[in-house]
Amino acid sequence: MEKIKMTTPLVEMDGDEMTRVLWGMIKETLILPYVDLKTEYYDLGLLSRNATKDQITVDAALATKRLGVAVKCATITPNKQRMEEYPELTEMWKSPNGTIRAILDGTAFRAPIVLPCIKPVVKNWEKPITIARHAYGDMYKAVDMTTEEPGTATLTFKGESGAEKTLTVQTVNGPAVWQGQHNLESSIRAFARSCFQYALSQKQDLWFSTKDTIAKVYDGEFKRIFEEEYESSCKAEFEKAGITYFYTLIDDAVARVIRSKGGFIWALKNYDGDVMSDMVAAAFGSLAMMTSVLVSPDGTMEFEASHGTVTRHYYRYLKGESTSTNPMATIFAWSGALKRRGELDSLPELVRFGERLEAASLKTLEDGIMTRDLLPLVEPGFQARGVDSGEFLEAIAARL
Ligand code: NAP
Ligand code: MG
Repeated sequence: MEKIKMTTPLVEMDGDEMTRVLWGMIKETLILPYVDLKTEYYDLGLLSRNATKDQITVDAALATKRLGVAVKCATITPNKQRMEEYPELTEMWKSPNGTIRAILDGTAFRAPIVLPCIKPVVKNWEKPITIARHAYGDMYKAVDMTTEEPGTATLTFKGESGAEKTLTVQTVNGPAVWQGQHNLESSIRAFARSCFQYALSQKQDLWFSTKDTIAKVYDGEFKRIFEEEYESSCKAEFEKAGITYFYTLIDDAVARVIRSKGGFIWALKNYDGDVMSDMVAAAFGSLAMMTSVLVSPDGTMEFEASHGTVTRHYYRYLKGESTSTNPMATIFAWSGALKRRGELDSLPELVRFGERLEAASLKTLEDGIMTRDLLPLVEPGFQARGVDSGEFLEAIAARL
């Protein structure tokens, strides 16, 4: 066949360890034979980040801003142990995902890949639930203290103009514990815009929930800003796309989510998102089947797998053993990026290719061919055979 043409490149961020091995295999087996692939390549492997003093990560993020679409391989975030493992490291470089998120001012959306032979623990969830977690402020940038004697705590804001605002937090008659939190209007607004953008791109309803009945001012601001963004710039587009924006109290949302069929995006404040994303991920089954998209307020998107570099498998691979590492989330990162590139450049062939790549991957699993991590998750009675990563990719290619 003639290869599918691309007009604009997408940003390709290579990574580390087992996922870097899978990255090459996925391109070789599933993409390059069919797509005349155009990418701007950035090697975010740990040693390349070290050699460039992490400039390559910044460059990759800036290129993503310019080109609008990126696909990223999992990368090592160095810690103490890694500093010993790689003595050539000159610094304990920061998490690339953190750097990229800060530059793109983005929100991460996590969604599971679902299929009939692996049922979530919550039996009525038929479609994926995508969690959007606000990644700035609240408890995560709070100050805390304990006090021993009776007394009064106040909260004071000193403006640059010299104006002051003070509230009494509480008068206590014994030892107490205190916390001061904040968030930024600009960050909440960017979060809201990313959520509306992503809901439109996925044509899925957007839910948002806070505890504004109790935190009337604090959570009330979140609710107000979301409403303002929706009313002023998204309502018409939502109506055209046939999707809704739905605000409800967090307790009500939790109850509704459990009873729902899934198929929507759930936006949450920082702490709520931290807790709920782990719950939803666990109920859907496997980290290896979790995808992630970083979306900035202007609709720029960076696609990746949620899992890490699968270090344990990599060390077996280095010893020459074949591994059964699950490439699904990384394949879906590629298909997501190709579909988005196709949408932005009006290339229906490219969009269709992304869809077919996903369908062929799901069909392979439905035919009972899967990496071994999934075997314990399949429905009782379903006939499945565990294969290594290479065989699994060949089986997808045969269906593609
Ligand atoms: P991990 O790479 O996600 O792997 C943890 C374990 O989960 C694996 O040992 C494996 O279990 C299972 N697993 C995860 N993905 C799998 C897949 N695709 N197929 C089969 N099994 C899979 O987490 P980690 O070991 O904590 O972190 C390793 C490195 O990844 C760290 O250096 C960390 O900094 C980095 N990391 C990067 C990102 C990112 O770039 N977005 C995210 C998280 C972590 P078994 O060994 O039992 O088979
Ligand atoms: Mg968590």
